[in-house]
Amino acid sequence: MIDEKLQPVLDQVLQRNPGEPEFHQAVREVLESLGRVIAKRPDYLNHALIERICEPERQIIFRVPWVDDQGQVQINRGFRVQFNSALGPYKGGLRFHPSVNVGIIKFLGFEQTFKNALTGMPIGGGKGGSDFNPRGRSDGEVMRFCQSFMTELYRHIGEYTDVPAGDIGVGAREIGYMFGQYKRLTNRYEAGVLTGKALFYGGSRARTEATGYGNAYFLQAMLATKGQSFDGRKVVVSGSGNVAVYSVEKVQSFGGKVIAVSDSSGYVVDEGGVDLELLKEIKEVRRGRVSDYVQLVGAGGRAHFVEAGTGSIWDVPCDVAMPSATQNELTGKDARTLVTNGVLAVGEGANMPSTPEAIRIFQEAGVMFAPGKAANAGGVATSALEMQQNASRDSWSFEQTEGRLSKIMHTIHDTCASTAEEYGAPGDYVLGANIAGFVRVAEAMRALGVI
Ligand code: NDP
Repeated sequence: MIDEKLQPVLDQVLQRNPGEPEFHQAVREVLESLGRVIAKRPDYLNHALIERICEPERQIIFRVPWVDDQGQVQINRGFRVQFNSALGPYKGGLRFHPSVNVGIIKFLGFEQTFKNALTGMPIGGGKGGSDFNPRGRSDGEVMRFCQSFMTELYRHIGEYTDVPAGDIGVGAREIGYMFGQYKRLTNRYEAGVLTGKALFYGGSRARTEATGYGNAYFLQAMLATKGQSFDGRKVVVSGSGNVAVYSVEKVQSFGGKVIAVSDSSGYVVDEGGVDLELLKEIKEVRRGRVSDYVQLVGAGGRAHFVEAGTGSIWDVPCDVAMPSATQNELTGKDARTLVTNGVLAVGEGANMPSTPEAIRIFQEAGVMFAPGKAANAGGVATSALEMQQNASRDSWSFEQTEGRLSKIMHTIHDTCASTAEEYGAPGDYVLGANIAGFVRVAEAMRALGVI
């Protein structure tokens, strides 16, 4: 339910941003949490502060022409939405996926603003990407695309302006090609302009692992509030990309047993526990599909594959669910199945993977629920650590960086929990994350005046 004083803000967002359901969903969720804030602090209604938070500072849309291996010219569309810079330079990933459109980038940029605020670090919110599909493209094609994309983007970004990173379809390879083109165009070795770089040219240790590890740390802290832990628990992780793979790694190190992973072609169940090294080889070396796992793991049919469309990964009974693929992948029906099967906790590795109905079902059933903007903030927090290392021309050890990450995730957990309690909703991490993120951004915006 939205407070009646905030309804006009939502109405305006719906009216000014037609055809952008994901953006509407993300704004509605935050506004639903803010009723309790304005009841205590009606001054936040002044100076159109909440309206300004819902309006991106700048949106850039551009043509990305490139030549494929057959010599044909291909055209994609590039985006960068610079959402809010009250706390620092815009910061947020680039997504390359055929589903990308301006509404999806706006929802991600809006979420990113509050997530970045929750980390306590000096970073604003932004997001970008393209409807380019890297799947099935050669290395040469991916490089030419990245170079063309950066040929426009470079004029809008910079160490003190806007610092992109990876997201779906953008990993170390793509960041490398984009950084190379940025360096060539500007004739500057400005390492802090992009994060997620490889180690040998300015990347940070533990950045690759950070989002997945961070979600596991958050869940560890959340489970501990109820005297629980990962030890001996069955865990299902959707996706098999960067976030999913390193969630599996950390959960296993905490004694949990990950029994299913997925990609857009379907999901694989291995009741014996997913073989992480094999999964990494399939995904990171062969760039293959999760279905390959079944043949490669061998051992007399120990694993089985279920094709997309014939079942949901959330049908697999588990104690902890970690949706780590994409938005709205976990529906109300999935949530009901998980609750029936006795799920204890859900930690969102992806951005907005649970539908509003699914979140409601979890909360009504008393399932511990960690929203993405808090649980997956470890990636961007470690990107901010990469920026610190670049600025001081330093390089920290894995242990030092992971130690900082673990501390940051436990602090975010505690901030969400204590904020929820302060606002009369103990255990509601959605409310806690939205309010704590909002207050930090709002205070900075007030201090900076109407800009
Ligand atoms: P990757 O590209 O590395 O992996 C994405 C995974 O999700 C792949 O297994 C992919 O399968 C699957 N997937 C993507 N889209 C769909 C879809 N429409 N339906 C079913 N499966 C899909 O991306 P990341 O792991 O980096 O990102 C995953 C999620 O985590 C995203 O929501 C992202 O925004 C979020 N996130 C990522 C951060 C990071 O540091 N990388 C930080 C914070 C959040 P397939 O290969 O078949 O497409």
